[in-house]
Amino acid sequence: MLLLSGPNLSGNEWKYVKDCLDTGWVSSVGSYVNAFEEAVAQQAGRRYAVATASGTTALHLSLLLAGVRADDYVILPNITFVASANSVRYLGADPLLVDVDEHNWQMDLDLLEEHLAKATERRDDGLYHKADGRRIAAIMPVHVLGHMGDMPRLMHLAKAYGLPVIEDATEAMGTTFAQAEGEKHSGSYGLLGCFSFNGNKIITCGGGGMIVTDDEELAHRAKHLSTQAKADPLAYFHDEVGYNYRLVNVSAAIGLAQMEQLPKFVERKREIAGFYRDALAGVGDIAFQEVVEGCRPNWWLFTIKTDRQAELLQRLNAAKMQSRPLWVPMNRLPMYAHLPYVQRNDRSAYIHERCLSIPCSTDISDTDLERVAKCIREGF
Ligand SMILES: *Cc1c(COP(=O)(O)O)cnc(C)c1O
Repeated sequence: MLLLSGPNLSGNEWKYVKDCLDTGWVSSVGSYVNAFEEAVAQQAGRRYAVATASGTTALHLSLLLAGVRADDYVILPNITFVASANSVRYLGADPLLVDVDEHNWQMDLDLLEEHLAKATERRDDGLYHKADGRRIAAIMPVHVLGHMGDMPRLMHLAKAYGLPVIEDATEAMGTTFAQAEGEKHSGSYGLLGCFSFNGNKIITCGGGGMIVTDDEELAHRAKHLSTQAKADPLAYFHDEVGYNYRLVNVSAAIGLAQMEQLPKFVERKREIAGFYRDALAGVGDIAFQEVVEGCRPNWWLFTIKTDRQAELLQRLNAAKMQSRPLWVPMNRLPMYAHLPYVQRNDRSAYIHERCLSIPCSTDISDTDLERVAKCIREGF
């Protein structure tokens, strides 16, 4: 089976893991956790990084740190992986779903702007949703498939309405946005940004995540909460309800080795995207995810849009070329179907019914790329 996007462990992974085993530093403390955190902070252009057990736990802690409380809303795009919405629910809050742009598949900022202007009101202690009187506590943009929406515009809106931004940058390690001040990395816009190192992401450590921020206090609190809120290194004194959300040293060792390879991986993903965009241009009704001006995607999962989605999925998977549709929109999942969904003509459904991701592992051969392109062309 040609994998959709498999792990590529061709660097120092083995050496660093062996070092953990040889020295016995396999668990919650060890030098690889610190080194991995430093590497990610540097990559993201942020002052602090705190490693977590997963991207999901990074999102949960970040929302908690941003002050999200039970019964609040967090603004979220309707097209995302379910973990974004779940992390909001863990706090007893609910996602306020916003439809996505039909061309770049990120949160539709026109809809967001209109909704903020018409459907919310400011009170002393924050922004409220007029229809049901619930507080809106934050915005969580999701950098879908390693692209970014118009982040300067989103940040401007968030500021105008006093909303903290928590970036779900779990798919966007290596993605940047060109601004007047220079290139800004994904995860460097919000109060907090979150990455994932799950097995299918552009780099992996088996499973893991990271919170990045420039705020020293928040970084300190993130570490504290992720390690059971232990207030005293010797006595079992804990000063609040903490979590066991830390990343173990063995995983961080793999993560550090992967970070060393990131530039190579991003370059390869961009080559793969370039190849498919040439090879599939003008084939049937195939269209691609539009790149927002200024964005340099990491092209994590190469995804095409066509009315023949179902047939092509069949065809590629039958040929042992792993392909997947885009996630079921959040408003169609039983846990989230009752929530407010801001939309004009449900572009989420339109995209969900038409998009499919095709094999794009960083170690895919050029021959295999040709084979995938051929299989798709023959489907028209
Ligand atoms: C992968 C992913 C997550 C969750 O990350 P894990 O490390 O698997 O917990 C959250 N949001 C999005 C958009 C993702 O793609």
